[in-house]
Amino acid sequence: MERDPALEGLIAEIEAETRHTAQFTGRSVLSPRVLAALRRVRRAAFVPEEERARAYVNRPLPIGHHQTISQPFIVAIMTELLDVAPGDVVLEVGTGSGYQAAVLAELAGQVCSVEIIAALTEAARGALVGYRNIALRTGDGALGWPERAPFDAIMVTAAAAEVPPALLAQLKPGGRMVIPVGAPWAEQRLMRITKHGSGAVMQREVLRVAFVPLVGGG
Ligand code: SAH
Repeated sequence: MERDPALEGLIAEIEAETRHTAQFTGRSVLSPRVLAALRRVRRAAFVPEEERARAYVNRPLPIGHHQTISQPFIVAIMTELLDVAPGDVVLEVGTGSGYQAAVLAELAGQVCSVEIIAALTEAARGALVGYRNIALRTGDGALGWPERAPFDAIMVTAAAAEVPPALLAQLKPGGRMVIPVGAPWAEQRLMRITKHGSGAVMQREVLRVAFVPLVGGG
């Protein structure tokens, strides 16, 4: 595929930020699979027309309904930390624009993504036409997606006050979860959680981040 200079510039920035944050994330480089996924998905296709000129700037952008598409570096590092293997079944909570779901779909066997705002689910459905391994649903993602569980990996893209118990329950032994935890509209801690074969759960703080809040009853 021909390389887009704007996208390549963004990827270079993401790689630099990955190096600079390695002491916190434990990852100094992005894996080739994650880089390839970032190169294949056109972020411009997931942002509103009026934001398209900024699609390859390393910033979050508004997508309507007071929500945002995450900063590209955050998408990259969260994807990296999820260690998605081919064939994995992945749950995303907070579909938003659908961009993160598309990146995950390049890496996983199946992506199931839940969004609480119906209009965003429907817009994402439009942007994701052609992806045969993404299932979308409108609902409270804090409850997971019981009919599709268990999951090899879970990514939460809205900040939760605590890790929703339903999500931990729907994670397979050996599974990974990446989730921002903390008060809404404050700085949150991005956590990487692993569930061991024994069922024991380990958590590690990775970075300080700022996400829109996870709403709903859970
Ligand atoms: N991953 C998205 C960014 C999402 S922003 C992307 O790539 O564009 C966070 C999203 O989480 C918002 O769209 C918000 O509506 C949604 N959200 C908030 N609370 C939720 C909940 N309880 N269940 C599902 N989605 C939720």
